[in-house]
Amino acid sequence: MTRSVASLTSLVLAGLLLGTITTAPALASADSTAARYTTTHLTTGRPTTGRPTTSVTCPAPPAAPLHRIPGRSGRKVALTFDDGPSPTSTRQILAILARNHLAATFFVTGAEATAHPDLVRAIVAEGSLVGNHTYHHYQPGAGGAFDRLPRSVIRSEVDSTTRAIVAAGAPAPCFFRAPGGRDSGVTMRAVIRSEGMTMINWTYDPRDWAAPHKASPSYQRHIVAYATGTSSHAIVLDHDGPDRAYRGNTVAALQSIINYYRQHGYTFTDPVGRPLGSR
Ligand SMILES: [Zn+2]
Repeated sequence: MTRSVASLTSLVLAGLLLGTITTAPALASADSTAARYTTTHLTTGRPTTGRPTTSVTCPAPPAAPLHRIPGRSGRKVALTFDDGPSPTSTRQILAILARNHLAATFFVTGAEATAHPDLVRAIVAEGSLVGNHTYHHYQPGAGGAFDRLPRSVIRSEVDSTTRAIVAAGAPAPCFFRAPGGRDSGVTMRAVIRSEGMTMINWTYDPRDWAAPHKASPSYQRHIVAYATGTSSHAIVLDHDGPDRAYRGNTVAALQSIINYYRQHGYTFTDPVGRPLGSR
């Protein structure tokens, strides 16, 4: 599916014409019902001030979310980084990827993309991809089920994030990841497919977001151990943001994760198996 510059531009302009209400609901950790969510952030699209977006060809969305890279040939791994971009870690992660001639997929929130459009552009400039991870990263209730929210809220979270990504100067995203990987909701699946995006979950979750908020060599070893394994088509979850979160252990573990996959003959790809980086 080709997402053209014209359609992206119209999307942003439509958001601007609708208004610029930016009142955002409080972050959702304490929310217990979907009723608390409003759609007042629907129109947070900002003027396009970055470089012109380019057309990008998205793969046809499959019916179900991907928990591994599709296909059976060869060994492939997709590195993914969620919840950024972040002034404290995005450029560090990009520098490590660049040293290794690699790229990855960054699932950004609309809120962080709006706050740090320069970092969105830096991700793209380094050859990495920007995915949609919702605007506010709602994880309502005890189960954290974003995918149980009403259709209108899901759509506004997704659309406002795509607008923020495009406004920052990146192509509209081909990939979506739900907060917490909660991806079973039928309505959410339908919304994402209708937007032409593929839902991406993960194969390995090292829980780097739960790491101590200080440098910890033992936790760095834990991250490496749980971010690697024997799957021949692995999607690896790591975390970049949000802003001000401590990601020093993730950054410190990244080279070892790369080394593992390289030593085992893996090709580094996007979440659907298309090569990323120069080798
Ligand atoms: Zn997340």
